[in-house]
Amino acid sequence: MDARQRSSLASWCRDRVQWDVDMADYSTLRAGGKAAALVDVQDPDELASLLTKLAAEQIPCRVIGRGSNILVTEQGFSGVILRLKGAMSDIALEKDAQLPEDAALVRVGAGCSMAACVSWCARQGLSGLEFMTGIPGSVGGAVWMNAGAWGGEIGQCLHVVEFADFSGCLHRVPAAELSLGYRKLAWLGGDMEQVVIAAASFVLYPADEPEIRKQCRTYLEQRRGKQPAGVASAGSFFKNPQGDSAGRLIEAAGLKGVRCGQAMVSPMHANFIVNTGRATAGEIIALMEQIQETVLNKFGVRLEPEVQILQG
Ligand code: FAD
Repeated sequence: MDARQRSSLASWCRDRVQWDVDMADYSTLRAGGKAAALVDVQDPDELASLLTKLAAEQIPCRVIGRGSNILVTEQGFSGVILRLKGAMSDIALEKDAQLPEDAALVRVGAGCSMAACVSWCARQGLSGLEFMTGIPGSVGGAVWMNAGAWGGEIGQCLHVVEFADFSGCLHRVPAAELSLGYRKLAWLGGDMEQVVIAAASFVLYPADEPEIRKQCRTYLEQRRGKQPAGVASAGSFFKNPQGDSAGRLIEAAGLKGVRCGQAMVSPMHANFIVNTGRATAGEIIALMEQIQETVLNKFGVRLEPEVQILQG
């Protein structure tokens, strides 16, 4: 951002802009370069208005949720990082006469944490999102990534996704206009890279609260038995290649425990890169490249990161 762009942003957002922000503080990897600015957006109208202004001034912009699947490079991000707060985390029951009678429709703001969303649904006795227990992101991030676990994907529960584009238009897109890919949601009417998800509505079904909570606990326990706990990571670093597992390939390549500075391939789960202390984004990316090169040379498979590398 040049001085003119900084001054425009300051005039739009006043004291709500944080400048030259260390993105390690906003990433579960606890590493990353700086972003020129970070702004917390409070409601969808403010979001639409800000996106229009940013586009007009050609200020680069990315939205993040809980930062559980991002890494900002050491060179940093020269634009604005947006986070969705306030009314953009609300949860409410909605109605849709076209849904089966026993179905419930839950509208959740993109800024809501997935944990709060799953817990709210359990309290209401609504089942369907239990498999998302333990995924430490926001609803917006989960929908954008089509996050999932245990054979389920969040996209399977979607009824409508609401998002804003960079011309300030708010869209309500039904599930029929979306296509669910592996860790990617696609919009048949446009480019998901060019939108910010504001909210999502999920179709859920009544069940006993204790049963829902029991299922959530089971998923959490299974997760604890397989994944490193209490260390900084972004979860699975690489996408699974078709018909195989990235973790299996990395382990078979003998890379468990391999380090680059303070970044390490987890000895517990080979697809986790963990930050053992003060790893830099550069060390994590160097380790990522070492893993990619080794797996490519040994098995002819090019691993693609699931973690979103933010730069520019
Ligand atoms: P961020 O990391 O903040 O962002 C991820 C991407 O989504 C970025 O490209 C960002 O620009 C985009 N984005 C975020 N919010 C929006 C929005 N409102 N509109 C448009 N784009 C947006 N993932 C799984 O799928 N399954 C798992 O089992 C799983 N386990 C994990 C375990 C651990 C310990 C950790 C740390 C991560 C795990 N993850 C898992 C990865 C991660 O939690 C998910 O991808 C999560 O859904 C990302 O949400 P987030 O809010 O943190 O997104």
